[in-house]
Amino acid sequence: MAEYSNTTYSCRSCRNPLASGADLLSKSFLAKSGKAFLFSQAKNIVEGPKEKKLLITGLFKTADIHCSICGQVLGWKYLKAYDIKQKFKEGKFIIERAKIVKEYD
Ligand SMILES: [Zn+2]
Repeated sequence: MAEYSNTTYSCRSCRNPLASGADLLSKSFLAKSGKAFLFSQAKNIVEGPKEKKLLITGLFKTADIHCSICGQVLGWKYLKAYDIKQKFKEGKFIIERAKIVKEYD
């Protein structure tokens, strides 16, 4: 993933930097709006209330994540996985591709 380390993913609406290419784990996730990325870390976000969400891969406790500047919903954070095989997602962030732009440092 070294080729991504000089990229930053920013909010499409306000250009608030949200995640580093170095923290990008997967591009093969799906959200309501289409493609979504899995990141190990995100910044400049605000977490919404905890909720249980039934996703394609099982039941999770999640929190929606919002841009800290414009407030737009970006995706969600996995707080808890109820399926042992999904535990690796805990503490990680899904950000919808449609909500971000890729920028080079
Ligand atoms: Zn924003």
